[in-house]
Parts: sequence; C-alpha cells; structure tokens
Amino acid sequence: MRFDRAELVDEARRSGTLAGLPSGHFIDGRFVASISRAKMQSFDPGRGVPFATFAAGSAEDVARAVVAARAALSGPWPRLTPAARGEILMRASHLLRERAARFAVVETLDSGKLLAESEGDVGGVVRCLAYYAGAADKLQGDSVPLGPDYLGVTIEEPVGVVAQIVPWNYPLSTAARGIAPALAAGCTLVVKPAEQTPFTTLMLAELLHEAGLPAGVLNVVAGTGAEAGAALVAHPGIDHITFTGSVATGQRVMQAAAEHVTRLQLELGGKSPVVLMADCEIEAAVEGVIGAIYENAGQICSAGSRLIVEKAIAQEVLDRLVARVEAMALGHGLSEAQIGPINSPQQLARIDAHVARARAAGNRILTGGGIVPDAECGGGWFYRPTIILADGLDDPLVQEEIFGPVLTVQIVQGLDEAIAAANATPYALVAGIYTRDHGSAWRFARAVDAGQVYINEFFAGGVAMPFGGNRKSGFGRAKGMAGLRSYCKLKSVVARL
Ligand code: ADP
Repeated sequence: MRFDRAELVDEARRSGTLAGLPSGHFIDGRFVASISRAKMQSFDPGRGVPFATFAAGSAEDVARAVVAARAALSGPWPRLTPAARGEILMRASHLLRERAARFAVVETLDSGKLLAESEGDVGGVVRCLAYYAGAADKLQGDSVPLGPDYLGVTIEEPVGVVAQIVPWNYPLSTAARGIAPALAAGCTLVVKPAEQTPFTTLMLAELLHEAGLPAGVLNVVAGTGAEAGAALVAHPGIDHITFTGSVATGQRVMQAAAEHVTRLQLELGGKSPVVLMADCEIEAAVEGVIGAIYENAGQICSAGSRLIVEKAIAQEVLDRLVARVEAMALGHGLSEAQIGPINSPQQLARIDAHVARARAAGNRILTGGGIVPDAECGGGWFYRPTIILADGLDDPLVQEEIFGPVLTVQIVQGLDEAIAAANATPYALVAGIYTRDHGSAWRFARAVDAGQVYINEFFAGGVAMPFGGNRKSGFGRAKGMAGLRSYCKLKSVVARL
C-alpha cells in the first residue's frame, strides 16, 4: 500500500482510483460485507465518474454494529484507565501523521476538495486525536460544599453507545470530532458516513484499531441515510446521537430520537455573516472573505456566505473581490486549481436553482453564476464562484442556505445596522467581523447570535475551541472540553458523614 504523496497523486491521476481502498463495513474490529451483499458506487466529483465501490448497509448491518458496540461496553474497554485510552488516541495521531498523504488523496477523490484542503483537514484530525488523547485523564468532576455533615461530588460517566451521522463536506474531520472525544470519554460508537464519502471514516476506524482500540469499540456502517442512517438513529440500543447535516434531515433525526428519548446534538446549516467595517484592513479582509466562502467551494455549514459591508468601502471591496474571484482557476482537486468541484450533481442543481431564482428576481450578479465542466477532462461538477447583491433582509439570498460558492452582499451604514443584518436569519452558527476598532469588534461579538465569533480572521480557532450553533443551526457543542462533556452523563453523589 502506498503512503508517499507524489506516488499517490500519480496513481490517482493515472488510474482514476487508488488500490487498497476499504470495501466493507468496519464492525467488531474487522471489515465485513453487507449481510445482503449490497454495494454502492462512490464518484469522483472532479470527473463525475465512479471510482470505487463500497458496502451499502441496511438495518441488519446497523443492528449487528450496535450489538458489537453494546458488547464492547462490557469488554476490556471500560476497564482501561483514562490515561490508557489517551495513549491509544495518541498512537492513532502519530499513525495518521505517517499516513496523512494517503488519507488526503482518498478524501480528495471522494469529496472533490482540493488536495491542499484535504491535507489541512487530515492535519486537523492529527491534532484532534492528540488533543483528546491529552484530555482523556482530565475529565474531572466537582466537589460541592454542603456543610460539615455531607460530602457531595459530581462524576462524569461515559454516556454509552454513540451513533454518529456524518455529512459529505468534511467527512474525516467531522467524523473525528465525534469519535475522538467519545473514545476519550470511554464511550463506544457506531458511525454512519455519508453515502457520497465513506472511505476516510472506514480508514480511520481501521487505523484506531491498529493503535490498540479493542474490537467493537468503534464500528462504521456505510450506506444511505434513508436505510442505514434512519435505522441507526431509530435503534433502541443507542444512548446518544451526534448528527451533522441539513436542517430537514436533522428534524427527522430529532423525531426519531424522541421515540426512545435518546440524547442528541445537532449541527445543522448556517447563513453566516462576515462584516467589513469601514475602518478594517481592506486587503486582509478581502482575503478573509474569499477563504470564508470559497474554501471547499462554499460547501461548509459555517461558510461566511453573507458579506455585510459598510457603504463607505463597499465599491472598493466589491471591485477587489470580483477581480480576485475572476482569477481563480476551477479544476480537479488533484490539479493546481484554486477552487474544486461540487460534491454531487444533486447539490450542483440546488446551487444553480438558487442563483437562477435570484437572476429571475432581478438581483445583480457581479460575477459567476453557472455550471461549467472541468477544462482538462470536460466533465465533473463545477460551479463558477459567484457574487450577488441582495435586495433587502427578506431576500431568499439572505435567508436561505445555498451550500455552494455563492456570496451574497448586503450594504449597510454603521455597526448597529450591521448587527441587525447579521441577526436577521433563522440561522446562528458563526459570525465574523473585520475592524481596527476593538470596541466595535467586542460590541458585535456580544450582540450577534452565533455559536462562535471570529474577529479579524474567519475560521480562527481549531480543535480547542467549542463549536456549534443556536436556533436553526442546531444545539450542542463539538470540540474543546465542551465536546468531551457531550459524551458524558453527569452523576451527583452525596454522602452523609
Ligand atoms: P444532504 O441532503 O446534503 O445529503 P443530509 O443532511 O441529508 O444532507 O445528509 C447528512 C447525513 O445524514 C448523511 O450521512 C446522510 O446519509 C444522513 N441521513 C440522511 N437521511 C437520514 C435519515 N432519515 N436518518 C438518519 N440519517 C440520515
């Protein structure tokens, strides 16, 4: 099996695929076929053709995985000390660093994203595993003052079997930010990757077992949301659900969770604002806006998809943005492109429908708009990076998540109007502001409804900062120590002395 970056890129470009990809589910410590033997194809979005097949799971495969995960709760896993669980995670972090190039090339073939972005994602997962390796033995409770006759303590206990449903836009990173803290807390898991992007999650499960995870602790069932996903979230053997995906599917998952009163956390969509105040450093701010919306071709729940700019600098900012966007080369994730493909033809059609509706409504499109093929292969699923002026707060361009490389522009006067515009959607995931004035930055940070706020650098942070949304963006927090506590149930113990 290859691990060298140049050789992997060469093999993938020459053959259109890679040898040695996992083809089964990962259940009870090994790869297994579906009970029904069913399989599905995965497509390379940069060429629009299938490049590999994988097992398509059903309710039977899910049941088998849940049995393995429940049994593992009474195997060697709960007898390990927290420090020993941390050692396994740290070994996995080191192993992943050695194999980073292989994970990155597979992620690019499967999701379409640029190789540099996949490498950034894998680097983030190396760090995520190391962070929770270090956190495993720091999950302390409190002692509570109850007077001389009592002693009260709180204990953080693992919640049990975790079901995690993973989307297709950040397959490996989203899977890891559930898996690593759940393992650190002492839970077991059944993970369902998106049907568009199963491979790196399956590879991560195999790697964690190589690092010493006992069989059954981490299981991965691939397959569709309608079959495998729905069966998993409805299973009575699940104690906690972590879901990342669309609002509509999140609502279905919430309904399924109600049946067995299963705990859950939801990370759903966003329509996140990036505010540029007139006193900002324009060059840095424009680069920030470009990264916020065009990374991963805009397929990011926390994308900065709404530019809210003060009128005094609006023309200069828009001129610079248009020039920058028109110089961006579209292409396959393994080429030298600056913007990659859209993950599926369904998502490509959804993006195009949003822009077509805006065009029909008379919104001014400053640049982009339209589906294009890859110049090199003549295929693939690409959307031109787009900038459109919004028409008022009720405009669907302001209110609806597009999940593609489409930047909506809102022009405002002053901080108060910027805050009102930022808060004018049903979503509340992230928000950014660029300004030299600390007072404005902190007033914005306090007044905006968002799970996280970025001042002068969009997406700043990393695994140590808690992440999640409010309102239609969901609830619960991943990452940081808050992410670790998501996988614990708190017990209060009081002794009469
Ligand atoms: P999209 O519509 O862009 O594919 P989804 O939110 O539907 O986004 O998908 C996110 C994840 O949820 C994927 O892993 C998908 O398979 C899964 N999923 C879809 N439908 C269901 C469902 N009814 N129950 C559980 N998981 C589901």
